[in-house]
This record gives sequence, structure tokens and C-alpha cells, in this order.
Amino acid sequence: MIKVGPAGSDGLGNLKGVEKVARLGLDCMEVAFTYGVRMDLETARSVGALAKEKGILLSVHAPYYINLASDEKEKFEASKKRILDSCERAHVMGARNVVFHAGFYQKRTVGETYQAIKDALASLLNSIKRNNWEIKLCPEITGKSSQFGSLHELLKLKKETGCGITVDFSHLYARQLGKIDYLRVLKRLPKKFHAHFSGIEFSDKGEQRHIRTTKPFFEPLARALIDRKVDITIISESTKPYEDAVMMKNMITKLELDNLRLGR
Ligand SMILES: [Zn+2]
Repeated sequence: MIKVGPAGSDGLGNLKGVEKVARLGLDCMEVAFTYGVRMDLETARSVGALAKEKGILLSVHAPYYINLASDEKEKFEASKKRILDSCERAHVMGARNVVFHAGFYQKRTVGETYQAIKDALASLLNSIKRNNWEIKLCPEITGKSSQFGSLHELLKLKKETGCGITVDFSHLYARQLGKIDYLRVLKRLPKKFHAHFSGIEFSDKGEQRHIRTTKPFFEPLARALIDRKVDITIISESTKPYEDAVMMKNMITKLELDNLRLGR
């Protein structure tokens, strides 16, 4: 099953966002704590109840300002708190996957950064267990090579800590400078995972900015996802997340129907 939905509430607030997602016939929505966790637990409860009533799956994107590899204690502790605050709201909302960008290399080597993030993740996973929060930490594949979060690093982290992953296919596309074989990527992944997608502009350093998702840009991925029979939630992160999620959902439905007709 491929479930499709937008990132954020389209400026409507999360309750109205969920209503809109349901009205458009989409399947899921990612609550975005972009600049800080400002949702109280009461609101989290109402958003979760509405989503449940409408049959919409929720996920949560933790704030951008997170660096689990920071050697400044204050920044490191603030990063952990932002993730845990996101997790608590996700649990109350009934959202399973909590997405975040884990950190930056800065002055540390690639190996030291990996170890720092792995240790931080282990401590976060402990706190989540202690609190009995039913959520999954899903660090995201990032779009720039200066940022921690290649496919290799995240798969290793998943194996060694038991965390989940967020596969942002457009970030992967930007990291690989536009050369990508989606089926090959999917063969390295589990069948069930959380994903992001959008149109993207990149330079030789990787991601520059998210743009609208065009049909020809999404189609190769859509075909590969259907071929591979994955069980995923895919979040549209384009500059028009709702409209482009509808386009993605329609394309997947159409390709699946074509396959049925052809008896594949
Ligand atoms: Zn993303």
C-alpha cells in the first residue's frame, strides 16, 4: 500500500489541514514543527482524534534546528529536547513516525559524527522507551553532502540502533546529482518505510531548494514503488504540497489500475 499526503497544514492550522487532506481523498499528513514545537498537548489530542475519525495517518517533522553531533553542550541538549518534545506530541496524536535531520559534520570527522549521532540516538530511544511513547524515530536522508544523512549512514544507523528511516527520494536525487535508479535504491530498503518527495533544484553541493513536483519527475519513482510492492507513507514536500500530493495519488492510482488491466 502506498499512502500519499502533504507536509504541513497549508497555512490552515493542523485541524483544518486534516479536514482538507480528508476532503481531497488523501491518506496521510505530516505535522510540521518547522521552527519549534509550539503545539500544546491538548491540541495534539484534538488533532489526533480528528485524524483518527477521518482515517488520516499522521507523522511529525521535528524542528529544523537540530544537531545531534554538536560539540556545544547547550545546542546538543536543545536538539535532544526538540526531538523529545516532538515525540511526546506524536504519541499523544497517535502519529507513528517522527522525522528529523540528525546533524552536521562541522569540525568532526565523518566517523566521529556518526558515533556522536549514534550515541545520542541510543539515549533518545531510551527516553522514548521509559515514557512508553509508541513512536518511531526516523532520521531523514538529507540533500547535501555537508550534512549527516546519506542512505548508507542511515541504513547503518537503523541496523545498529533499531531506529526507522525517512527516505527523501528527492534529497537522494540531489545528492547523486540527478542520477538515480529507484529500483536499485528500493532493493536496499525494507518494504515498509516512511518517505518524502518533491521537485528539487541542486548544485554540485547537492540540494538547493524544493520546487513543484511535475508528473514526469514523479513517474519513474511511482513505477518503481508499485513494482517493488512497498508499504509506505510518502509525504509531498513541494512548494504546493497539497496539489502535488493529489497529482501523486492520482498517478499511483492510475498506474495500479493499468497494471490490473494488464494482469500484472
Ligand atoms: Zn524531506
